[in-house]
Amino acid sequence: MPLLKVLLFCALSGLMATAYGQTQSLYNYQDLSHLYYQKQKDSLKKTWVCPVVFKDDKAAQKQYKEFWDSRTESIISSINGDDYIHDREVYSYIAGIVQQIAAANPQYVPANQLLLIDRSSAANAYSLGDNVLIVNLGMITFARCREDLALTIAHELSHNYLQHFETAIQEKAAWLTSEEYRQSMNSVLSSRYDRLTRLQKILEGYTFSRSRHQRYHESDADSLAIILLKKSSISFNADFFLHLDSSDNEYLQHLRQPLAAYFTPYQLTFEDSWATKRSHGLSTRAYNFSETSTIEDSLKTHPDCPERYARTRDRSSAHQQMTPIPASVGEKANKMLIWELFTSSKVTPVIYRILLEKDKGNKDPWYDFMLSNCFYSLYYADRQLNRFGAVGIVQKEFISRDCYALQTFLEQVPRDNLRQYCETLSKADFWNGLSTPEQGMKDLLYTLALDPDDSDHNKTRAAHTFATGNAGSMYCEFADNFEKK
Ligand SMILES: [Zn+2]
Repeated sequence: MPLLKVLLFCALSGLMATAYGQTQSLYNYQDLSHLYYQKQKDSLKKTWVCPVVFKDDKAAQKQYKEFWDSRTESIISSINGDDYIHDREVYSYIAGIVQQIAAANPQYVPANQLLLIDRSSAANAYSLGDNVLIVNLGMITFARCREDLALTIAHELSHNYLQHFETAIQEKAAWLTSEEYRQSMNSVLSSRYDRLTRLQKILEGYTFSRSRHQRYHESDADSLAIILLKKSSISFNADFFLHLDSSDNEYLQHLRQPLAAYFTPYQLTFEDSWATKRSHGLSTRAYNFSETSTIEDSLKTHPDCPERYARTRDRSSAHQQMTPIPASVGEKANKMLIWELFTSSKVTPVIYRILLEKDKGNKDPWYDFMLSNCFYSLYYADRQLNRFGAVGIVQKEFISRDCYALQTFLEQVPRDNLRQYCETLSKADFWNGLSTPEQGMKDLLYTLALDPDDSDHNKTRAAHTFATGNAGSMYCEFADNFEKK
């Protein structure tokens, strides 16, 4: 078949698959990066050949090559570990923004970007040089409008154009192999006293000059990003930097209702004492939540936001456009993110996000399904004597009082009640609104958590039944954990 025909055939059969598939399914198992990027992964290894940057310095070149290769390895291991996802709808939406910026700025942005969607919930994006651009699901759900995403993307494209990644590893390689570094290390090693303090001084000097450099890099990337946006006729709104400053506050948000109010509609018993931490003697001191409503700058994902705002505010476009992100893209990104948190067994964040959706008035039964999954997996973990691990304990400093109460409740709810939760949820009305793969997940989780036969053989069999009955479903990622044992 000629190439064009082959491509058309592929595109059409792709469309047919969607049309005949479950209307509610998010993405297919094949969209996980270990399958979707299998071919690209092999070509990355071949095309990414380390250039010679230190012609007369073999040691520095060797060090440089080590950093260079570790980038390739890290992307490959992320692909293998399914850190990325290729959901067609979300991917093409983001790719559309990249293309718009590239088309308007051919001198800065080559058209052949390698764009990846990272499943991380952190509101972030990053560039790894060589036209590799990665946008997190957490950034897609955090952005207020298309322009916010465009600014994030333009910023990362600028890092790539300005070769910040390459410069950073080049400087690091030069420093680690320099005479100055070698001599200072030697003097530390030969001195009998204060070895540690001297060593710290050397490292401090290095990290200080690096962080200063990084600040220049951030500022340069912002300046170029504004130019790229203007040329693309996308408005620039410096306010986004202030919004970005709150990106670590997801679990610091409060709930609209007391915890019990979220569980009673499912006919689940809830006792307030379960959500109150039982004291463990002297070590548990009283904690005042109002003291730490802001996260310390050093712990933030983006520490310099107010500075970035102040530096760029005058360049904000006169006519602010805020193009809404299509509801289906936002919803998909949010669900993919919640599913990813679930597969990483982070039960508290998953349930908290579901409760926040309830606060928005979201009645989609998919969230009820995920709530049910959480209780089943918590009961399963309890049976494996790993409830503490499944709850995913987070320090009070980083979460709201409500989120802490939820975490405490999940930690303390008695085992029998947890079992009752699973039984009650399995008979709930919301299941009527869900499709075959979700029903299949219910059966699988029932076997894993509640079946009196707790043998590995029984679990493997149930996972296999799910995978054969729901081939290609995204939920197979979960079944994999038990089928391949
Ligand atoms: Zn940056």
